[in-house]
Amino acid sequence: MNVNLRFKGTWAALAIIFLAPLAGVRAQSTGGAAASAPSKIAVLNVRNAIVATAEGKQAQAQLQSQFAPKQNELQSTQKQIEDVLWAFRDRMLDLKNDKRFRYVLIFKNHGEAAGASLEHPHSQLIALPIVPKRVREEVDSSRHYYYDKERCIFCDMIRQELDSGVRVIGETQLFVTLAPYAPRFPFEMWILPKQHSSSFENNQAPLYAGLAKVLKDNLVRLDAVLDRPAYNLMIHTSPIGEEVNEHYHWHIEIIPKLTKVAGFEWGTGFYICPTSPEESARFIREAQVVPAPPR
Ligand SMILES: [Zn+2]
Ligand SMILES: [Zn+2]
Repeated sequence: MNVNLRFKGTWAALAIIFLAPLAGVRAQSTGGAAASAPSKIAVLNVRNAIVATAEGKQAQAQLQSQFAPKQNELQSTQKQIEDVLWAFRDRMLDLKNDKRFRYVLIFKNHGEAAGASLEHPHSQLIALPIVPKRVREEVDSSRHYYYDKERCIFCDMIRQELDSGVRVIGETQLFVTLAPYAPRFPFEMWILPKQHSSSFENNQAPLYAGLAKVLKDNLVRLDAVLDRPAYNLMIHTSPIGEEVNEHYHWHIEIIPKLTKVAGFEWGTGFYICPTSPEESARFIREAQVVPAPPR
């Protein structure tokens, strides 16, 4: 499948990776037993693909997919999710060698209401020549906080939230899942590494294994509480060239699609959230889920 992506005066690289048992998405994981096979997954050859036009530059992304249509991440094993995380990490490290890119966004649109363009479950990676506005704001705000207090705002938040516990959805040795203090949407969830880490792609193997476990557990809970909602999932990490820092802390944001963004939100950039984060956290935390069989 060929996809044209056009940004005014600029370009982007797109890859789609499926959360399904893919022969081609067996990235090297703990023991490095399996090697990645780039030809089987979405690959963009950015060097050959950029085409200048009067309206800007176009990038042509070539997508290839193999997937099991009935399988989603809830049926995927923890190991399969971990393999996808490794594939994203490897792809990010590769794309960062291209000096034109400033940010690599990994995201997932699950369900039609969340804007999923394909019927089968998949996650996406897009490399951008600019730092997205939302990320820039988060990074700059956290830098200002750091200048003021000499502490990472996310580390402070994690400490406070674990102390109070009311907005904590779950905690493992490596991660904490929170309902943020000022959520934009009902049941918004953030997953953060407990130890300070400024970039998703620069971590040790146990972290990706731990994240796969936490992701699966949280998505199973979300499904149980909200009856399989559509949702968006985004990884926020430091921009390219700013990867190692003390002020920004990579994290995942999950936003179930339960409300509509309307005039007030568009007009102000503020969000009216009808559900308190304490209530959301309690529902998800206390969800009765069938424990996954050991893998
Ligand atoms: Zn931190
Ligand atoms: Zn964020």
